Amino acid sequence: MSKKKIAIIGSGFSGLSAACYLAQKGHLVTIFEKNEAVGGRARMFEQEGFKYDMGPSWYWMPDVFDRFFADFGKKTSDYYKLLKLSPGFQIIFNDASTFSMVNDSEEQLKSFENIEKGSGNKLKKFLKNAEYKYNISMTDLVLKPCHSVSEFIRWDIIKEVIKTNLFSPLSYEVRALFKSEKLRQIVEFPVIFLGAMADKIPALYSIMNYAAMVQGTYYPNGGMVKIVEAMSDLAKSLGVEIITSSPIEKIEIEGNIARGVKINSKLIEFDAVLSAADYHHTEMNLLESKYRNYDEAYWEKRIFAPSSVLFYLGINKKIDKLIHHNLFFDTDYHAHAADIYEKPQWTKDPLFYVCCPSKTDKSVAPENCENVFILIPHAIQLEEDKTMVDHYFDTVVKRIEKYTGESILPHIIFKKQFTAQNFIEEYNSYKGNAYGLANTLMQTAFLKPKVKNKKVKNLFYAGQLTVPGPGVPPSIISGKIVAKELHNYLTLKN
Ligand SMILES: Cc1cc2nc3c(=O)[nH]c(=O)nc-3n(C[C@H](O)[C@H](O)[C@H](O)COP(=O)(O)OP(=O)(O)OC[C@H]3O[C@@H](n4cnc5c(N)ncnc54)[C@H](O)[C@@H]3O)c2cc1C
Repeated sequence: MSKKKIAIIGSGFSGLSAACYLAQKGHLVTIFEKNEAVGGRARMFEQEGFKYDMGPSWYWMPDVFDRFFADFGKKTSDYYKLLKLSPGFQIIFNDASTFSMVNDSEEQLKSFENIEKGSGNKLKKFLKNAEYKYNISMTDLVLKPCHSVSEFIRWDIIKEVIKTNLFSPLSYEVRALFKSEKLRQIVEFPVIFLGAMADKIPALYSIMNYAAMVQGTYYPNGGMVKIVEAMSDLAKSLGVEIITSSPIEKIEIEGNIARGVKINSKLIEFDAVLSAADYHHTEMNLLESKYRNYDEAYWEKRIFAPSSVLFYLGINKKIDKLIHHNLFFDTDYHAHAADIYEKPQWTKDPLFYVCCPSKTDKSVAPENCENVFILIPHAIQLEEDKTMVDHYFDTVVKRIEKYTGESILPHIIFKKQFTAQNFIEEYNSYKGNAYGLANTLMQTAFLKPKVKNKKVKNLFYAGQLTVPGPGVPPSIISGKIVAKELHNYLTLKN
């Protein structure tokens, strides 16, 4: 087969991953990225000696990263040094008590027992089951392109579904096991990453508990941006061309074939196009309506992961009681969830997350300073409200001050905020969503937006809005799935 020219739109994890796999197959790959830097939601910025990862901060499922690099004969350690955080994270509750997720399983059981008698053994069983699910889903099921349900009609898969109750809501299982509200929140927290609460997420996703509680939380020294740098270095070494500051304006179609992409009103011809930009943006802004897989009504009915208000702060002193990952569950968990998913509105007393990577990594802040990143999730599509954003800043700073017993406000020497409007402007994100479509039961596997355009033969999609879903590891896997589909198409065609 002669070398084919492939355009990839977007340089997030899914675009970089697809580019590596396609270049490995011998194709001539060009990535077009609208922003100045590569990495999409995982870009980094540097200001006044502080280096901030703009989006993801939790490195879970290290085996997925290892498998990615191994596919190219490399090791993760060829690119960055991975540190295992201990404890992985802490949760701060409304009675001012804290829970630390330690790596030692016996210690974990003891801390569960301290909260509720008998819960240690229940946790052990729950995590054993989660490990089993992780092993079956992350090796085989997760790599399916999900064109149709038929890929899953295999007796061994059906048997697993029945045996492990994969499709009932995760919260049924958790709430049956644990009476303590604290334990329920600890066990249900990891699925928040999938964009919905545990009552809407199928029990299949206790694989997230296996990731968080058994595999542990890691940190690539230098920040999450090290993964982006590693993947773009690998892509370049395979011959991929990466062109930044280049927003694609249109995917040009003739008949049922994409001819190429338009940039500055000029057509650049390619043999195939893969969009790793937000799916909705690709379809609504880059394609004429007759070529779309889905219309606006389809997207209106989807359940999206929340948007977020983000604050990047530089603090000119050390804050003892913060650790690398801190979850402030010190207000009403259910009220905040209801304001995101049931009756979308600005919640008054939000839960929030504080990342303080300078606890682990001296390179991300000047000496004796802390690098603090705060994430406050909220419903998508809320009208931008400066008063609420200011209120959020005041309330989270006060609550961090209360928990740490330290004065923080006068020590903030750098502050940048990032809101839903920034998600729209910087990533063409649908209604400002932060991390794609939620992995609810009706939006899992073959029920997700398809990786292939149904009307244009050589147009494909990757990223957090298609399979397998939101998060860094799934986006990397998405690139692998779609690269295989696209390569198969080009091979069969020729
Ligand atoms: C605040 C935040 C925190 C998160 N935390 C975590 C975490 O801790 N752990 C985790 O695993 N995951 C986390 N996630 C999710 C994870 O970051 C994403 O799922 C993943 O990065 C998505 O990758 P992607 O390739 O699908 O999309 P993106 O990273 O959004 O990449 C798409 C790219 O397409 C570009 N683009 C858009 N339109 C065009 C166009 N017309 N022309 C050219 N380029 C275009 C965009 O600029 C962007 O660079 C977080 C996300 C956010 C936002």
